[in-house]
Amino acid sequence: MTQAGDPPIAERVVTCPACGGASIYASSNPFRPFCCARCRQLDLGAWASERFKLNVEPSPTPVDDAQ
Ligand SMILES: [Zn+2]
Repeated sequence: MTQAGDPPIAERVVTCPACGGASIYASSNPFRPFCCARCRQLDLGAWASERFKLNVEPSPTPVDDAQ
């Protein structure tokens, strides 16, 4: 059986768009180009809320562990 749609990706390290940290860009990382599920969620939430309020000022703290 062959599984289409899942080509092997050469493993490399990219910059996570959400936290700016190192992210493994490989087929083993389902959240690529993000480093983890949390960053993926953060990024989605960021542009989603940005659609709602365009005049919001960027927070000085990019990552909040409280939530
Ligand atoms: Zn990240």
